[in-house]
Amino acid sequence: MKIVFATGNENKVVEIRAIFQDLNAEITTMAQEGINIDIEENGTSFRENAMIKAESIAPLVKDAIVMADDSGLVIDALNGEPGIYSARYLGHDTSYHEKNGDLLRRLEGVPDEKRTARFVCAVAAVLPDGRKLVAEETMEGRIGYEEKGSNGFGYDPISFLPEEGRYSAELAPEEKNAISHRGKALRKMRELIHESIDRQ
Ligand code: IMP
Repeated sequence: MKIVFATGNENKVVEIRAIFQDLNAEITTMAQEGINIDIEENGTSFRENAMIKAESIAPLVKDAIVMADDSGLVIDALNGEPGIYSARYLGHDTSYHEKNGDLLRRLEGVPDEKRTARFVCAVAAVLPDGRKLVAEETMEGRIGYEEKGSNGFGYDPISFLPEEGRYSAELAPEEKNAISHRGKALRKMRELIHESIDRQ
């Protein structure tokens, strides 16, 4: 079985290879398949955007499962911002240090109990026979008061995880994969694929 993952992000591919190890699948990327198209993510939810990516690539590959993900940070006190616009927040070229600083400023004066937030990840797949699968998971936390930690990426330095007692950027990669929205959604997708292949 071959799985083509619709991403240009090598970090994601490393994580996906680790999680899908036992499926005995060959995992490739769009780049490895020679596919270089710009996909407009114009959906209104994480799952819609993930499916838009998977569906755009599916017609371009044969006999493979096409998979894509979409993720972001949802802050309750900001009506769900940055949400599906997480990567684009304040523009693609703005550093995460600036994006994080801006969010911390917007939350000034907001008390602990109202600083709830979650990372969300939707993983979508189109099977070779056209069937579609979606898995969505979250990692629940709170926005802290400063940036902390040097692991991870993006909004990890401002995301405090009460159950861990640490910021997301303070977790080692394998610790984060075990509890992260992306890790959980990918493992859920592995189960869904297992089930749908068994049912064939
Ligand atoms: P995607 O590659 O379109 O899914 O973009 C997701 C964006 O959401 C990233 O660029 C980050 O800004 C944010 N994001 C998603 N997952 C994480 C995470 O695990 N840590 C920090 N930021 C994340």
